[in-house]
Amino acid sequence: MFSFNSFLIAENPFKSLFLHKIFQLMYRSHSNGELRSEDIGKQVKLSGWVQKIRDKGFMIWVDLRDRYGITQLIFDENRTDVGIMETAKEIGREFVIQIEGEVIERESKNPNLPTGDIEVLVTDLKVLNKSAVPPFTIEDKTDGGDELRMKYRYLDLRRNPVKESLIFRHKVTMEVRNYLSENGFLEIETPYLIKSTPEGARDFVVPSRMHPGQFYALPQSPQTFKQLLMVGGMDKYFQIVKCFRDEDLRADRQPEFTQIDCEMAFVTQEDVMNTFEGLTRHLLKKIVGVEVEEFPRMTYDEAMRNYGNDKPDIRFGMEFGELNEVAQHKEFKVFNSAELVVGIAVPDAANYSRKQLDALVKWVQRPQVGAKGLVYVKYNEDGSFKSSVDKFYDAEDFTAWAEKTGAKPGDLICVLSGPAEKTRAQLSALRMEMAERLELRKPDEFAPLWVVDFPLLEWDEENESYHAMHHPFTSPKEDELDMLDKNPGEVKANAYDLVLNGNEIGGGSIRIHDREIQNKLFAALGFTPEEAKAQFGFLLNAFDYGAPPHGGLAFGLDRLVAILAGKETIRDFIAFPKNNAGRDIMIDAPAGLDQSQLKELHLNVMKEVSEE
Ligand code: ASP
Repeated sequence: MFSFNSFLIAENPFKSLFLHKIFQLMYRSHSNGELRSEDIGKQVKLSGWVQKIRDKGFMIWVDLRDRYGITQLIFDENRTDVGIMETAKEIGREFVIQIEGEVIERESKNPNLPTGDIEVLVTDLKVLNKSAVPPFTIEDKTDGGDELRMKYRYLDLRRNPVKESLIFRHKVTMEVRNYLSENGFLEIETPYLIKSTPEGARDFVVPSRMHPGQFYALPQSPQTFKQLLMVGGMDKYFQIVKCFRDEDLRADRQPEFTQIDCEMAFVTQEDVMNTFEGLTRHLLKKIVGVEVEEFPRMTYDEAMRNYGNDKPDIRFGMEFGELNEVAQHKEFKVFNSAELVVGIAVPDAANYSRKQLDALVKWVQRPQVGAKGLVYVKYNEDGSFKSSVDKFYDAEDFTAWAEKTGAKPGDLICVLSGPAEKTRAQLSALRMEMAERLELRKPDEFAPLWVVDFPLLEWDEENESYHAMHHPFTSPKEDELDMLDKNPGEVKANAYDLVLNGNEIGGGSIRIHDREIQNKLFAALGFTPEEAKAQFGFLLNAFDYGAPPHGGLAFGLDRLVAILAGKETIRDFIAFPKNNAGRDIMIDAPAGLDQSQLKELHLNVMKEVSEE
């Protein structure tokens, strides 16, 4: 256990005048989580916040709190000075106090508290700072709502669950640093004031005062810099780094977030994956005590076909069964005209009531999911079937459906149909929802998975052009290079994602290190040579000076920490997070600038906006 002044722990701190002097000057000799029955008889000094006061008139008990724990103090009319008794009566919750006293045995011990065998009989008390009454209770279960807690985040941080989350994050971060450093990685910082790096989101920009009309962009990731570090011969780089993306905020996203960003030279995809599989295995073992075998791998195409999702949660089954063959060419028009008919077998749900089934149909029809309807088949325990399409299909048909979806008696087969891509996404949403309802997503079970062979490019309907699925520096599969001109949508990339429990926790790729190939890709992405030069000239130039083959990846640290802790929200693991609208409600940001500042930055705010 951490001790502030181990040399003072000796039975008698007044051994010498020198030690006595030190004892007098310091705020505390021990933390509030430290004292045990072995310490009974010691003279100690403690500092901290007042968690709770119980005033019986002749005796007052105070729970004194700091990061390390809680120690009970006792003020006793018969043993504590009258003046101190009086001061004690004036202290309130969250006051910051310092006490001196003797460790004594507690009469009614508290086995739930590490310091529960002792209490400190106070002989001296100093109020270091008063506190206003806190706007919510600083308890594990608080009465404060989300907004209020965010507004007073510094008070929220005093609560155990938030504090523990930050300590947990620290542990993960330290393990990452140690592991990577031991494996030869150098932690190197890269700048925050840069020019835009394309990662698919909008940039946050910073106006330059010294260069009127010019702007820096905050990095969406250090992507180009880490590649330049490889050209610079750094060989193995990592950084725990803030990234900034101006995206419309979906639930549980933050406009600034932290990556474990890495890059390696002279590596193949296999080398990168092995290194970071090693890191992940190390974290699972050290942080959660779970040993995981070699991580399974799945191609992007398989993931989409079997789970409708490029980050499938494989802790439970419910794999997709395609039913075109066995469900089309009957009288049921909806299926006959659909590009894809696809289903899942929901375990042990055949006993769903009519009401529950109707609710499920409504659920898939919500705009967030967007399915037209849901066909269900109850595969009853006695082997019979009951479905919403009994008119069109018989038991033989349903037996074939059950086979394709892997349904057993007692299961509920849920079927969607429509355009392939959309329908898969809808069924994926349903699969996750059912897993949630059936509590199949166990937070203490860890199922990592590599998804590989992503498409290089994605067709963007809106702009009628291709854009890079990962980023424009990702290397195409070498043997598919030829297709880049004729059939760019078919080309696969040397790109990989690490998925943990249905969340993408990391992703990366082998990079293009050849200028010609990079030019070709820019062309496929619709950049003219001039545009490419204007935006990425620095990188292309660097490739003229001996770029080594290289590749890397980045982990989302916030999400990784949350999953390792078995939690869903990343906010709890960030000391000062933004709310769902991207606002920091504690410091009230973003905020306007005053005229003089705007002028200095050569900025004019559009009239419509400033009048809002
Ligand atoms: N820069 C990429 C990202 O932020 C990761 C990588 O390719 O290494 O997703």
